[in-house]
Amino acid sequence: MKPLKIFSLVLFLGQLSFTMFSQERLPIIDMHMHIGAPLDLPAGAPAPCLPQPCDRKGKATANSSENLKKTLEAMDKYNIVKGFLSDLDLKELQKWAEAAPDRFMLSPFIHDPEKADLDRIRQELEVDRLAGIGEIGSQLVGIAPNDSRLEPYFALAEAFNVPVLIHTEGIGPPLPTFRTAAGSPLLLEEVMVKHPKLRIFVENTGYPFLDDMIAMMYQYPQLYGDLSTITWIIPRSAFYDYLKRLIEAGLGKRLMFGSDQMRWPEMIGEAIEAIEEADFLTNEEKRDILYNNAVRFLNMDIKK
Ligand SMILES: [Zn+2]
Repeated sequence: MKPLKIFSLVLFLGQLSFTMFSQERLPIIDMHMHIGAPLDLPAGAPAPCLPQPCDRKGKATANSSENLKKTLEAMDKYNIVKGFLSDLDLKELQKWAEAAPDRFMLSPFIHDPEKADLDRIRQELEVDRLAGIGEIGSQLVGIAPNDSRLEPYFALAEAFNVPVLIHTEGIGPPLPTFRTAAGSPLLLEEVMVKHPKLRIFVENTGYPFLDDMIAMMYQYPQLYGDLSTITWIIPRSAFYDYLKRLIEAGLGKRLMFGSDQMRWPEMIGEAIEAIEEADFLTNEEKRDILYNNAVRFLNMDIKK
């Protein structure tokens, strides 16, 4: 055989195995993605882990464009068809959307609610450039979900019928203003009562406030939870213990996968593998978490 023919054959086989590999992977929706991280860290810094002391893994990307490139590579590899992406900088969100059309649902990160531009967010929702509100990360500055300063954001999301992601849980970045006590899922109750049509999901399904989260999810069927940072930031055994108890409580149809990759795109693969390797989950439960529940929550029109 001539060298050119051998070369073409190798190329053909390579493409064939690539196609077979990507066809094997069923679609995934990532409900928790970011452009940056809440802590200012140098390029190459490892990702956080809990509880300390623990081994930190990964290398922080240097800037937004490197993060975009590596995040898209991971999305392609694992067949992530949509990502719920939030950031403080709306222009940066637009850049990612332009680089990868139809891949991201853009949503403004809300840190201190008094510093966010509510009018601008409303305008962006009106022209469909934003598809959600949050992550609401006000717990990082000690502001609880039932604080009146957050009320206009919930009202806006309910009026536009867009999903809200909120950081209401026991863990968070090591910031002096972070308050664990402001993360009790019970503090969401006033919000749920006041906004019965609000489509809201809680980061890490309120970890580790399991009983309070189960109570809230039983009482308020519109409340969903994500399985994001806890897939990689805490010991795998602690994550599985929490997930198993949520499943045993019958909440498997209301849990959604997220990577919370921040500046560590390698965590996207780690997060997916943590779900796929859970041997106490059936294949149907895994597919619900990785895709089906998000489709229902987002009211997505999926053509089969
Ligand atoms: Zn987050």
